[in-house]
Amino acid sequence: MTTLSSKADTKKSESLKKPAGGKKGQSSSQKVRLATAWLGGCSGCHMSFLDLDERLIDLAEAVELVYSPIADVKTFPENVDVTLVEGAVANVDHLELAEQIRERSKIVVSFGDCAVTGNVTSLRNKLPVDDLLTKVYHEGPGAVPRGGEIDKVVPALIPRVLPLHQVITVDAFIPGCPPDPERIWAAVSSLLAGEPVVLADKMRKFG
Ligand code: SF4
Repeated sequence: MTTLSSKADTKKSESLKKPAGGKKGQSSSQKVRLATAWLGGCSGCHMSFLDLDERLIDLAEAVELVYSPIADVKTFPENVDVTLVEGAVANVDHLELAEQIRERSKIVVSFGDCAVTGNVTSLRNKLPVDDLLTKVYHEGPGAVPRGGEIDKVVPALIPRVLPLHQVITVDAFIPGCPPDPERIWAAVSSLLAGEPVVLADKMRKFG
C-alpha cells in the first residue's frame, strides 16, 4: 500500500498553503477548513486525534473545524480543505456522507485501518446482511421483531462493508488501529504546510 505518500498531489496541497501557518489571531477566513467524519468505526481514531494533546492548541490556530463528531454540526459543509474520515462504509447513510465529503472536500484522508481496509467493521462481511440482522438483532438476547419501527429508523446496511477508497477517491491514507498521535500529527502538519504527506516507514503499519 502506498500509505501517505499519498495521492494528495502537489496541486491540491498547494491550495492549502495560503491559509496554513497557524499565526495567532488569524481570522477564520484565513484558516484551513478542516473536517473529521465518523462512518463505520468505533471512534477510537477520533480518540487518538484528541490525544494530540497540546498540539491541538497549535492546530486550533491553523484550522477552523467545520464538521466533526466532536462539534455539533448537522450538515457536511461546502468548501472544506481537508477531511479526515474514520471508519468503513457500512450503510446507506455512510454512502451518502462519503459522496458529500468527496464533492465538498479538496483533500480526503482515509483515517485509520477501518477506513483504509475495512478492518474490524468488515468482519460482518462473512455473513449475508439478512442472516446478520436475523442472528444479531432478531434472535439474539435483545431480540427485536422484524419489520417494526426500528427497521425504518436504522439506516439500511449495504451488502458488504467497503473501505473508503472503494466508494470515493481518497487522496491520502493514515493506517493504524488507531493511528497513534505522532502519525496523525505527521500527516496533518504536512497537509497544513501544503506538502504531500509521506509517512516514515515505522508509521506505515496496520494495527
Ligand atoms: S481503525 Fe481501530 S480505532 Fe479506528 S475506528 Fe477502526 S477499530 Fe476503531
